[in-house]
Amino acid sequence: MYLHSQLQTTWTSITTRYRPGFIELVANVLIQIFGFIIPATVYMLIDVAFPKFSQRHKIQGARRQPTRQQILHCIRISLFNHALSLAIHGMMLYIVGFDNSLMNLDATIPSLKTFVGDFFFALLAREVLFYYVHRAFHHPSIYAYIHKMHHKYITPVAFAAEYAHPIEHILANVLPITLPLYLKGAHGLSIMAFVTFELWEAAADHSGYDFLKLPPAELHDLHHEKFRVNYGTIGLMDWIHGTDTVGWDRPKGGKVKRANE
Ligand SMILES: [Zn+2]
Ligand SMILES: [Zn+2]
Repeated sequence: MYLHSQLQTTWTSITTRYRPGFIELVANVLIQIFGFIIPATVYMLIDVAFPKFSQRHKIQGARRQPTRQQILHCIRISLFNHALSLAIHGMMLYIVGFDNSLMNLDATIPSLKTFVGDFFFALLAREVLFYYVHRAFHHPSIYAYIHKMHHKYITPVAFAAEYAHPIEHILANVLPITLPLYLKGAHGLSIMAFVTFELWEAAADHSGYDFLKLPPAELHDLHHEKFRVNYGTIGLMDWIHGTDTVGWDRPKGGKVKRANE
């Protein structure tokens, strides 16, 4: 209760002092930095500062890890995508005017119950949206044009989470995380907290480390290694569609087809 009233006081002083569009844009910049760029940098630094610990906890072997040059290239593309989504967001706010916001910045902060409800709603909505968008990107007729780029890193590193074609970045990374809560009219603080969590989750999922059991990094790591498995994020949609095991698409008892997309 004390924390809730403290948060309310802080939120009131922010909303009375700054314009809504400005709050939304600055919040997004801070979310990208604290939710993704700093955690991804920390994961990368573990490799450099603690190589023995790193090798012990990497899901895939040391010989399969990307080179320094590949990692730097990955970081550049990842940062470009962050800048792209911020620019689009900034442009949309410019169009509606900075006296308005796209997210609900109500003066009253949400209750804990609403906050938790929003979180689980967004988690499920993201799983459903991401699963179908991601699986569609794996369709042989479009795979080579967009999603193949994200699969460049068979052994992923944290920054590889955002290593993607710009179209994929918007359709698979940004919209499944943000759109459901925006459409629901959830409070801006719920959106900020969820996006921060999801960005960290994406970095953790691609970090290549096995010590994060929540989120289950092994699921997505295996997707990068074997391609046609684990299209979702939390395992739910893969369980429903039976795409949670390697070889689900191979004819039973027939000739074994190698997954290569
Ligand atoms: Zn994929
Ligand atoms: Zn990935």
